[in-house]
Amino acid sequence: MVESSRARVLLVEDDGELVEMLSTLLDEEGYEVDAARDGQRALHLALTRRYDVLVVDRGLPAIEGLDLVERLRSRAVTTPVLVLSALAKPADRVAGLDAGAEDYLGKPFDVDELLARLRALRRRHLEAADVLPVNGGQLEVLTRQVLREGEAPVRLSERECAMLTVLARNPKRMFSRRDLLALAFTEDGSEAGSEAVVDTYVHYLRRKLGRRIVATVHGRGYQLGRP
Ligand code: CA
Repeated sequence: MVESSRARVLLVEDDGELVEMLSTLLDEEGYEVDAARDGQRALHLALTRRYDVLVVDRGLPAIEGLDLVERLRSRAVTTPVLVLSALAKPADRVAGLDAGAEDYLGKPFDVDELLARLRALRRRHLEAADVLPVNGGQLEVLTRQVLREGEAPVRLSERECAMLTVLARNPKRMFSRRDLLALAFTEDGSEAGSEAVVDTYVHYLRRKLGRRIVATVHGRGYQLGRP
């Protein structure tokens, strides 16, 4: 499982006591927690910061919980959402899932079940998006983007992404130019023999993402950069 840094959760809940209890619990579980007490604030945070998972109450000031989820989905925010609500009849759950939530838990809830569901959501999301840790952030292979806290996503070309993916899947391994050529640029063998193309793409990656994204192993090859 990918664990480069603490997972970030946005907790959207207007009940102050519950916010306090959940913040402590999630912090102990290893999450970095932001809390929003109303839907408007939550919308702003979810659109401007990167989260690994959202926990969303339904009855909220400003923007109601399911409306919030729908707005996020319509703006292509794919972060997994768990709705945590006292409205927990089958029809309520159906409404939540139809609004775009991945999971739904009724209040009152069991703390261990909540934590287990959050772990499962995050695991499924990482696998689906094929997310790999890289120096200072995450590479989302599916969308060919590098996401870093507080920075705009960096879009990679197909080949840049292919090479960084090879390095990031084996973060401790050193790759020779020949290895990288074979693993990242094999489509029709047309690059065979031109190992210099590897240096070119290392140069492109460093230009976009900083020198430390790829480390040079002198006289031998490259490996993923260390923070
Ligand atoms: Ca509420």
